[in-house]
Amino acid sequence: MLETYREEFVAFRQTVAREEYLHFAGLKETIELEPVYERYAALFTPEAVAWLRAELDATSDLFPTQRYGIRLLISFAQRAFVERAVAPLTEEIAEVESALMLSVNGEDTPFHQSAVLLARESSGERRRNIYQERLRSIETVNPRRLQRLQRIHEGASTLGFSCYRQMLERQTGLEYERLCRELNSWMERSEGSYHARLGEALERDLRISPQYADRGDQPHFQQLVEYDEHFPSSGLRKAYEETLQGLGIRGEKQSNVAIDDEDRPRKHPRAFCSPIQIPEEIKLVIRPTGGQNDYQALMHEGGHAQHFAWTSPNLLPEFRYAGDNAVTECYAFLFNYLVTDPLWLADVVSFGLNYGFVERTRLHKLLYLRRYIGKMEYELRLHSQEPSEGSAEDYTRILTRATGFRYHPEEYLIDTDDGFYSADYLRAWAVEVLLREHLRTRFGRRWWRSRRAGDYLIDLWSTGQRYTVEELAKLAGLGDLSFDPLFMELLDA
Ligand SMILES: [Zn+2]
Repeated sequence: MLETYREEFVAFRQTVAREEYLHFAGLKETIELEPVYERYAALFTPEAVAWLRAELDATSDLFPTQRYGIRLLISFAQRAFVERAVAPLTEEIAEVESALMLSVNGEDTPFHQSAVLLARESSGERRRNIYQERLRSIETVNPRRLQRLQRIHEGASTLGFSCYRQMLERQTGLEYERLCRELNSWMERSEGSYHARLGEALERDLRISPQYADRGDQPHFQQLVEYDEHFPSSGLRKAYEETLQGLGIRGEKQSNVAIDDEDRPRKHPRAFCSPIQIPEEIKLVIRPTGGQNDYQALMHEGGHAQHFAWTSPNLLPEFRYAGDNAVTECYAFLFNYLVTDPLWLADVVSFGLNYGFVERTRLHKLLYLRRYIGKMEYELRLHSQEPSEGSAEDYTRILTRATGFRYHPEEYLIDTDDGFYSADYLRAWAVEVLLREHLRTRFGRRWWRSRRAGDYLIDLWSTGQRYTVEELAKLAGLGDLSFDPLFMELLDA
């Protein structure tokens, strides 16, 4: 019985992943999620959840792997039950946004394309105009997003939880409140040093005074266009493949990983990795716009792709298609931050005198980290009660304080992910530093040039998402999860 459930679970995950891939890669205008959720609805009814619970109760403590697997299937069923109720809205929002047109400098521009223009626009005034246009578009979709969020909350309460947050807490066993307090107290302690560095960088790189820094300036601030010449589009794939080669992996020969770096007007600007069949069919989708961000995006998604491509096909399906997302994010960050490593820059992209660049990327990482701490605090509130007018105010206040850029209430729903993904990113950031240090100690400062390091990573990757990121850190000899090394690295920089 459990075998049949697993087969259907895999078929469902693959069908959804394929549909999302085609739409967000800009290959298909529509995204048909609702019929998929309807076809597989029996997998995630409250009765299916109760049946899985009975299976869990019938499985002895002597089989912890089996038990963890069933717990992951229960989480999947509960989340998919909630997602089914909002599938028509999820579809509608994605389709409306990909079809939205705005006027940028007198030209009709697709909504997704406008994010690319915003990041590359060097005139502050024109950035404001693009951003205002974006906010107006976002506002037109907000009623649908609000309705979607309300239905998510209703779904969690139908399943017997007091709120969506409680559902996620029970599933993961994570204490989000405690995690948030710990991160917030660090953020307060580092306030002075962060704002001093940010202010200096804003004046130097954007020629704006920190009190006028706006959320609309943030993508351009992080784009670092002045370093474009060191990161030509023509060298993008080569940098990724050369890194893999150093680790003993023939990237160009990997038949299970397909890289899509073509430009299409409706392609989503956010790069993504879509593991459709794990490990047999992995898609890595990126929309290059020029410069270092492309390199970071490709390496990040490349980290995900390698993880899924080396996941053992013999693992139970729930350890391939479900599990702790912080694990795959940790591998993605490991590759991602090679682009900020002075030696990798010199070796792989021949960018030797990179001190100024490295210093900027460290500050940007700190900004990301603070933004995600803010997002987590905000999402904790948003998912603990019914969303209201006050939610938009919470969003603006918390994110503005965390980042130093003025945030706007219109983005209070579009700037969130389902399932407390912010907490997964934060845990992944912490473990990535530990893993990177471990690789350096064992395989040298240029660990990406070591085949033994490659073998070590392949060993870790093969376990898919069998373990949580905390368990993985222990098993790999990295010790307990701690944020201190991450904070120290960023503040010392
Ligand atoms: Zn990622």
